[in-house]
Amino acid sequence: MVKPIVCTHCNGEMQQYSGPRYNRRAAGFFIIGGIFATLFWIGAVLGIPLIVIGLYMLGSKRDLWVCKDCNTALERFNIDSQKLGK
Ligand SMILES: [Zn+2]
Repeated sequence: MVKPIVCTHCNGEMQQYSGPRYNRRAAGFFIIGGIFATLFWIGAVLGIPLIVIGLYMLGSKRDLWVCKDCNTALERFNIDSQKLGK
């Protein structure tokens, strides 16, 4: 069980929220654009990276802490313990 975080703005309780990092419509636009470009032989050079970027955008998520009271959101980072020097 994770301890609740207190909002620095209003002292309300913050809730974990996990959502897509990027706009889904933008990611879909990249994939559709990539597929469309790939239909043409020369377009594959441009289309395949576009599809890869689009899929990455769809798969990428972020963890946030959102305040129940005032809807302040904080992004949650997991600091890699190896980077702390031990
Ligand atoms: Zn708050």
